[in-house]
Amino acid sequence: MGVLLQNSGYSQENGCDVDTLKKITTENTEYICFVPFKFKITLCSLWFIDSLSNDHITITHIQDKTMAKLTIDDLQFKGKNVLVRVDFNVPLTEDLQVRDDLRIKASLPTIKKIIGDGGRAILCSHLGRPKGQRVDSMSLKPVAKRLQNLLGKEVKFAPDCIGPEVLNLKKSLKNGDVLLLENLRFHPEEEKNDTTFSKLLAEGCNLYVNDAFGSAHRAHASTEGATNYFDQCASGYLMQKELEYLGGALENPTRPFVTILGGAKISGKIDVISNLLGKADYLLIGGGMIFTFFKAQGMEIGKSLLEEDRVEMAKEVLNKAKDGAFKLVLPEDVLVADKFEAGANTKTVNVDSIPAEWLGVDIGPQTIKKFIQILSNAKTIVWNGPMGVFEIPEFAKGTEEIAKYLAMATEKGATTVIGGGDSAAAVKKIGIANKLSHVSTGGGASLEFLEGKILPGVAIFCLCLLCGT
Ligand code: AMP
Repeated sequence: MGVLLQNSGYSQENGCDVDTLKKITTENTEYICFVPFKFKITLCSLWFIDSLSNDHITITHIQDKTMAKLTIDDLQFKGKNVLVRVDFNVPLTEDLQVRDDLRIKASLPTIKKIIGDGGRAILCSHLGRPKGQRVDSMSLKPVAKRLQNLLGKEVKFAPDCIGPEVLNLKKSLKNGDVLLLENLRFHPEEEKNDTTFSKLLAEGCNLYVNDAFGSAHRAHASTEGATNYFDQCASGYLMQKELEYLGGALENPTRPFVTILGGAKISGKIDVISNLLGKADYLLIGGGMIFTFFKAQGMEIGKSLLEEDRVEMAKEVLNKAKDGAFKLVLPEDVLVADKFEAGANTKTVNVDSIPAEWLGVDIGPQTIKKFIQILSNAKTIVWNGPMGVFEIPEFAKGTEEIAKYLAMATEKGATTVIGGGDSAAAVKKIGIANKLSHVSTGGGASLEFLEGKILPGVAIFCLCLLCGT
């Protein structure tokens, strides 16, 4: 008997009284709740209940338990209806054709495994943000067509994701069939993780597979609620790859382990920085967030991006870095521009000489050299966030040079992982995405993963084993 509690600020590992637990549950509105105990808790981590008496509960951090996760290779699909949560949130053209089918291709191995083993794949996904309404331009119908071409076999399409017609379609499937359900988010109940909706989604299905890492940080009906109605829930191949690379880098990296953080703001990345501080040997920092660090060191930063309210936070990180065994490396020089637009005048300056009317838009050549020198010894590299305003070609050199070096490092044997979002977009734009070990498909999900959180859509694989079902 076991319970996983997710995402609480509660941090005592050896137990607490039930009243404290009740207090936590009433103070927090967002929750992940796992059978058999229905505690409502907002957590920061994953816990295992060892024992529960009338007045005392003993819990252990999940990472202290040796745990196997159920994967797609552990399930028997023959003759079974399999609900598969995929991430088919793809961009469409104005005439509603699939513009980029990367995400569809990424889930093909999982779909082929299920149907190849004689299972019936019932695929569900969201597309866009229809806000709980049926919006024709966000229908998954064009995706069914593209999937049919990619698979080379018929893909049936359900006009909804729940209801009697969908249930009949599920029941009519034969071994090896593929059915794609209509956009989950046409129903507001999906994002509310509604119990009735979850049950209807699971109806007519025997097994559950989650291959949508990009949606795993949300406890929605299709990623969490529906799993309560299955005996077995497993990760698909894409999900496994994400966990293998991102999880492997964080938990058991081959050292030296170097992380590169960039992007716009400290506020969006502070939890990642805190989590990585204890794990990485080097933390290289670029992007817009460096200027808040420089401000914290008392430097003038001109008109560069500044988060005034995060200066104290930056000071704390710098202080921690002084004591720590790892090295936090900030740029030595930056590219500054007189305008935040293409065609601006630019020059390279030392970080302590940023002119008052100019703003920093990229890391400078000396910094690129220094970062590459550190990266040249690295055996594991995780990168999240561009080094500069890479969308404007004149400000993209830092991001490009680091990306190209990562491709070389991969060739020389380093494990290189791109943590989704804008850095994934940057390496695709530069054309080296396929030369890296792994480019995460999850933006928000990979960020939360790097923050050290266990994602609801990942926790479910552990749950089934713990509950012994
Ligand atoms: P994030 O989503 O936090 O990874 O931020 C990505 C964004 O950061 C990109 O759109 C970049 O243009 C932006 N960015 C990177 N460096 C800078 C900079 N020096 N000043 C302003 N924005 C930046």
